[in-house]
Amino acid sequence: MRINYPKTVENFLFYLSPYASGHGVELDLAYHREFVVCPATDIEMNGYFISGRRPKLCVAMKKPVSDWLHVLVHESCHMDQWLEGSPLWRDLMVAPWGKSALELFCGAFRGGKNDTNESIPLSEEDIEDLFGRIVAAERDCEERAVEKIKAYDLPIDPSEYIRRANAYLWYHAMIPVLGGFYPTGKEPYRIKEVWAHCPDHFDNDYAVVPKILERAYRTYCV
Ligand SMILES: [Zn+2]
Repeated sequence: MRINYPKTVENFLFYLSPYASGHGVELDLAYHREFVVCPATDIEMNGYFISGRRPKLCVAMKKPVSDWLHVLVHESCHMDQWLEGSPLWRDLMVAPWGKSALELFCGAFRGGKNDTNESIPLSEEDIEDLFGRIVAAERDCEERAVEKIKAYDLPIDPSEYIRRANAYLWYHAMIPVLGGFYPTGKEPYRIKEVWAHCPDHFDNDYAVVPKILERAYRTYCV
């Protein structure tokens, strides 16, 4: 049996459920899971949205609301990008390789757990292009998420959300340095010692990681 959430959270779920199913998206609110496995990557995650033949929005909810709500909001904004036919979302799937930009980007740096495409030769230009696609889509998603948090009056402080989102956005520039994504459980947006170093606006150069933030990633996200 699922527990009761704050009223605005219930309202958000009440909107999201028919909205997703009305657009052919399976909404999986995994009340009994601490993590969910994304079918596209086979990696344990806090939540995901996948498009394709069987679109699915999924979030692991066996944790406090403050630990899953922002994930659901974020992933639901990827769903919105997809539903609107946003080129930012479309560009996350990269022809001619038929793989996601993130998979290709991570795969270019050995040791990452997304490292599945060792044989694909990528030029410096390709790598820069992939980075640009990922950060553009994720930043747009985060900006949408902030609007959604405000629109539904969700119990998330928008200013703190932006700082946490920045810790996530900037991390992408650490992937070449650290060899891949942070381990599940060491998400930079969960660790205050990391996100506290981030500003509460999106007007940043995400290719250049501030030194103090880089030190925090190296200390807490490995
Ligand atoms: Zn995202």
